[in-house]
Amino acid sequence: MTESVPKFIDPFSLIKQQAKLQGTVPVAALQRLSESLMTPDGEVAWTLRFRRMGSVAAITGNVAATLTLQCQCCLESLTWQVDAPINLGVVSSLDEANLLEEPYEPLLLTDSAQVCLLDIIEDEVILALPIIPQHAYACRAQTSAPGNVRLHPATDARPAKSSAQRAVPGLDEDDEPGGKNPFGVLAALRLKQPE
Ligand SMILES: [Zn+2]
Repeated sequence: MTESVPKFIDPFSLIKQQAKLQGTVPVAALQRLSESLMTPDGEVAWTLRFRRMGSVAAITGNVAATLTLQCQCCLESLTWQVDAPINLGVVSSLDEANLLEEPYEPLLLTDSAQVCLLDIIEDEVILALPIIPQHAYACRAQTSAPGNVRLHPATDARPAKSSAQRAVPGLDEDDEPGGKNPFGVLAALRLKQPE
């Protein structure tokens, strides 16, 4: 599915033409994105529409992809669906960029009127990634196989039971009458001496 899409585009020219471009690009062709993934599988489908929206030279559209991230909790693979809108306002100075209002993000064109099309697509997909990829379920409890990295082996072992033990009334009060002050440990030691 090769699209006849130019590598570099002139956004202002395309806005005059009210152009609409769309295509797909293999994830592996986007290097910065690939570095954020566990495996660079699949492809990114994208649509870009160029037009004037009021005073804004706008590029709107969408990026969609199914990506394979690495869960930072269990280090296993994590499927992440990206389906993100694009709302860019093309500006040629920082002053212009500061005047942009929601939902537009500035696309700053300084030295050249040309911009790499795939850079726009790649940036938008990267923005749609989670800061810390993590499974929605409690994945860490399922990865206690030897050899795996265990982040908190001690707390994985029946946390409910240990908190239930702490909740038993009376026990703490009898053993450590001074437990509520900083010298509680000392007080408990003194109480044990007469035994
Ligand atoms: Zn996980």
